[in-house]
Amino acid sequence: MIALSIVIPIYNEQETLPDLVDRLDSELDNIREELRSVQKLQGTATIEILFVDDGSTDKSRQLISTFVETNGIYRQVNLSRNFGHQAAVAAGYKFARGQAVVIMDGDLQDPPELIKQLISKWNQGFCVVYALRRTRQASLIMNTAYRLYYKIISVLSDSPVQADTGDFSLLDRTVVDIINQLPEKERYMRGLRAWVGFRQTSLEYDRPERKAGKTKYSMARLVKLAVQGLTSTTVKPLFLSGILTFMSIVLISAISLYALLARWVVPEDRMPVGWTSLITTISVVGFGQLMSTWLLSVYIARLFREVISRPTYIVENDSLALDYPNQPTTTDRT
Ligand code: UDP
Ligand code: MG
Repeated sequence: MIALSIVIPIYNEQETLPDLVDRLDSELDNIREELRSVQKLQGTATIEILFVDDGSTDKSRQLISTFVETNGIYRQVNLSRNFGHQAAVAAGYKFARGQAVVIMDGDLQDPPELIKQLISKWNQGFCVVYALRRTRQASLIMNTAYRLYYKIISVLSDSPVQADTGDFSLLDRTVVDIINQLPEKERYMRGLRAWVGFRQTSLEYDRPERKAGKTKYSMARLVKLAVQGLTSTTVKPLFLSGILTFMSIVLISAISLYALLARWVVPEDRMPVGWTSLITTISVVGFGQLMSTWLLSVYIARLFREVISRPTYIVENDSLALDYPNQPTTTDRT
C-alpha cells in the first residue's frame, strides 16, 4: 500500500526541477515520520512522487527520467502533448496510488515543507486539506483582479470555491476516487474539490515567488481558466435573461400603457401617426424575445447539469457503518 502520492504537474520546468527534487528529498524523512503517526495507515509510510510531464519541450522530461532511474520513489507519466495544467492535475489524480494525494506546483511556489502539515490535518479526520494563500507575490492590479474574481465566483457558485486557494492540497483516497469517477471532461479541480463536500479545512501559507523560469499562465490562459472556473461551478449567469425579462415587464407595461392612453390624452395634432401601434409592437416583440431567451436558458442550464452528470448526492457515512468505496454515481447511465 502506498501511503502518500505527491503529484507534480510539469511543463518546461528545467530550471526549477533540480532544486525541487533537492527540497523534496530533504523533506522526505519528516513526511515519513508524519505518515507513521496516521492511524489508518498502520505504520506504512511509503511515498511516491509522481511527475506528470505535460508535454514539456525543454529538458524537463529527460531530467525527470534521471530522477526516476536513480530513486525508486519517483515516477513519471508523460502526456503526449501539452494539455494544460488542469488536465495534468486530472491525470495525476488518475494515476496516483496513495491513500492520500498531494498536488503541488513544480516551481517551488508550493513549499514541500508544508506537506507534513497537510498530513497532520488529514490525520485529524479531514478528507480535503487545501493550502490557503495568506499573501502572494503579485502586482496590485492582479491581486485586485484575483480578489474580484473570487468574490464573483463565491457569490455565484453553489458550492463556493474558497478564495485564495490553488491546486496545492491533500485529498483523501475517498475523495480522489469520487473526483476520478465524475464524467465531466473539462475539470476545474478546485471547483470539484469544493463541490464534493466531506470534512474540509485549510492551511495558511505565504506563497513565495516562482523559484526560476516564467509562469506558464499567460493572460489569455488565466482568462480561460477563470471562465472555465465560473462556467463549471455555476449556471447562474445564464439567468441574466430571466432577470432582464422581469425588469422589462415593468418597463414594457408602463410604455405600452402610456402609448395606449396617449391616444386620448395627447392632442391629436401632436400625436405622430402610427406611434401607438409602433411602440406597442416593439414592446411586445421585445418582451417575447427576452422571454424566449430566458426559457432557452432554463433548458440549457438543465442540459448542462445533465451533460456534466454530477451525482445527485454523495454518501459520507451510514449508521450501519456500511462502506461505500468508489460510490457509483447516482446519475450513471453507462
Ligand atoms: N503546468 C502544466 N501545464 C501547463 C501549464 C503549467 O503542467 O500547461 C504546470 C507548471 O509546470 C507548474 C504548475 O503547472 O508546475 C503551475 O504553473 P505555473 O507556475 O506556470 O502557474 P502560476 O503559479 O503562475 O499560476
Ligand atoms: Mg507557479
